[in-house]
Amino acid sequence: MSAVPLRNARVAASGVRSVSVLGATGSIGDSTMDLLRASPERYQVEALTANTNVAGLAKLAKEFNARFVAVADPARLSELRAALAGTDIACGAGEGAIVEAAERPADWVMAAVAGAAGLKPALAAVDRGAHVALANKECLVCAGEFFMDRAAKAGATILPADSEHNALFQALASGNRDELTKVIITASGGPFRTWAAADIEQATLAQALKHPNWSMGQKITIDSASMMNKGLEVIEASWLFALSPDEIDVVVHPQSIIHGMVEFSDRSVVAQLGSPDMRTPIAHCLGWPDRIVGRAAPLDLAKIGTLTFEAPDYARFPGLKLAYDALRAGNGATTVYNAANEIAVAAFIAQRIRFGAIARLVEETMNSWIRAGNLAPLSCADDAIAVDHNARDMAAALLPQIAAKAS
Ligand code: NAD
Ligand code: MG
Repeated sequence: MSAVPLRNARVAASGVRSVSVLGATGSIGDSTMDLLRASPERYQVEALTANTNVAGLAKLAKEFNARFVAVADPARLSELRAALAGTDIACGAGEGAIVEAAERPADWVMAAVAGAAGLKPALAAVDRGAHVALANKECLVCAGEFFMDRAAKAGATILPADSEHNALFQALASGNRDELTKVIITASGGPFRTWAAADIEQATLAQALKHPNWSMGQKITIDSASMMNKGLEVIEASWLFALSPDEIDVVVHPQSIIHGMVEFSDRSVVAQLGSPDMRTPIAHCLGWPDRIVGRAAPLDLAKIGTLTFEAPDYARFPGLKLAYDALRAGNGATTVYNAANEIAVAAFIAQRIRFGAIARLVEETMNSWIRAGNLAPLSCADDAIAVDHNARDMAAALLPQIAAKAS
């Protein structure tokens, strides 16, 4: 199985780097644009994309003099054209246009579309052998069975942008694969870390959206509250670095200062630390294999004073345990885990289910999927997308009974 190389293959950094940002108007997009803004002499923006936010996209396109922009909503093409009137920025709309943005010849692509919708565009960038900074963890969760192999075949370099995986990527450079005993990813524990199970069950949307450390998009913030995000990240780590589930540990670390650690055979544990600010891992991906000047606040450990750690509680956060189950089942089970979770989070936002029912819907969907004999290896994007669609349908069909059931 292919994986991110453990040691940086150093290549000479060449002058101006052309970059594309998929999901430029989101939280990761914002952090990426902030870094690009700080060094206009180093980066030429090739393409930028958004889902529906035409005004935000057009503003960025003009500021960075992008060559091409695309909006996912096909109904917004004329609005986008009008917003770009008087410029020579080309544009498109619809899913195909987002893929076209990824296909354009940028050296470096930030894959930061939210959800499984990010898979096809990320693969388009991978297939032309680009450096792909991967924030979209759903790509690996849905299609990990072939994503890394496809990247290896195309000569693409996957740069982990998720903070925990970026930490592992940096720490892994301290040793060789056969010297690694395990990796440890940290979890803040989210807003419900100290809550009783009965209170978590009834948590409101506003409570779930109050993340203690990180400022992120809505979906990932809810996933952090349920610890489904950590589950997705366990799966992401497994595919990225070709690790078995037993080689991946999670530790709750409420301060979010240590992002990831690698334990080697000599019992050395190498960690990466930093302020909880996504601009740090993104800066690492942007500069790789060199380092650029970051934009996050410097880390002041004396001011922080105490770093604490605790074991994750699978009973109160069953979504994390389900990720290990999905990983062990393989054959599309992680795709089902992700799809059911996306349906569950949307249902929670729409106030159709209680917070506690998110994990129950994921568990029930995974069980029904396996009972129906649907597990099968995935070998291409269409396989992954078909499983994603069918699992969403199954989760949607199970939703009313989960919504009606008391915990
Ligand atoms: P977000 O919701 O803030 O932004 C998502 C971006 O994707 C926006 O630009 C939006 O316009 C675009 N988008 C949404 N749906 C789309 C669709 N169907 N087609 C095309 N474009 C679409 O999300 P975010 O927090 O920036 O997260 C983006 C990805 O990065 C997610 O996969 C998330 O798990 C991952 N990630 C985020 C963080 C973080 O701190 N925000 C950290 C680690 C990983
Ligand atoms: Mg993360």
